[in-house]
Amino acid sequence: MEKKNIDWSNLDFAYMPTDKRYVSNYKDSAWDEGTLTEDSTVHINECAGVLQYAQTVFEGLKAYTTEDGHIVTFRPDLNAERLENSALRLEIPPFPKDRFIDAVTQVVSANAAYVPPYGSGASLYLRPYIFGSNAVIGVKPADEYQFRLFCTPVGPYFKGGVKPITIRVCDFDRAAPHGTGHIKAGLNYAMSLYAIMDAHRQGFDENMYLDSATRTKVEETGGANFLFVTKDNKVVTPKSDTILPSITRRSLIYVAKEYLGLEVEEREVLFEEVKDFAECGLCGTAAVISPVGKIVDHGKEICLPSGMSEMGPVTKKLYETLTGIQQGRIQAPEGWIHVIQ
Ligand SMILES: *Cc1c(COP(=O)(O)O)cnc(C)c1O
Repeated sequence: MEKKNIDWSNLDFAYMPTDKRYVSNYKDSAWDEGTLTEDSTVHINECAGVLQYAQTVFEGLKAYTTEDGHIVTFRPDLNAERLENSALRLEIPPFPKDRFIDAVTQVVSANAAYVPPYGSGASLYLRPYIFGSNAVIGVKPADEYQFRLFCTPVGPYFKGGVKPITIRVCDFDRAAPHGTGHIKAGLNYAMSLYAIMDAHRQGFDENMYLDSATRTKVEETGGANFLFVTKDNKVVTPKSDTILPSITRRSLIYVAKEYLGLEVEEREVLFEEVKDFAECGLCGTAAVISPVGKIVDHGKEICLPSGMSEMGPVTKKLYETLTGIQQGRIQAPEGWIHVIQ
């Protein structure tokens, strides 16, 4: 198959339409059989539930080429499961998990020419989502929905090398106790936009959100979970009902224990403890791990011993092991790699 003529290594994280996307509609209490389409435009009523009351949930995952030339995705079953949990919380009919995997397979196969080659650092980003599509003016769930899955090629996250970032403790809250912080919904992002733009205006790369009930515990950033390393090489990650269960973070915990023999603690992490950690990283599909060099709490700086020029040694080992597993250089645990072709 002829690849598209794209400068893979210089791609940004930006939308580019590809040849095919998958669409299935929900009506009269059932999902239709679904189909691939060339139409990149969604046609919905001006009063659609998603437009009025933000009834929509989404996922994000990548397809890429492994060392031996296969096109694969990483643990899509966990994205299928998480999308189901997100949907249920917003009264959206879940899209069947086996059909989710089938849609991933169909979209990636149909757009194989857009899957970047091994070694380019780029990947094909997949965006599955469901939204209320019929007219809703009284506040209630829609009766009709659309599941859509499109893909777009994206460049390497760390262009020109890994660079630790500076984050600030945020005065805005991300998630309320018993709220929607644990689901992947556009609404959690809409309300984070002011906070992230404000952070950027003040010269910070990201926000560290604390728990909104006590403002003493570390939660996550707007789109990534925290992973810390103690001075005696223990991996510590915050446990909370109000953070999004990152698939990358869950995979890194497994890698830390089973591949690297590290001790892992999943527990509440007090902000008070952060000054004593040796390393800090942000985990998510986009970067796998993005190292944090500095955390600023209202002018008080916490400079991680790993510094501002490279990843800390344990973070780096975790990063290299997980990316090695993903790209087929290291034997993956059973079921982690979904081969498409
Ligand atoms: C998507 C997301 C993450 C990262 O999850 P992955 O499954 O690792 O990509 C973390 N936090 C939030 C708020 C997210 O929306």
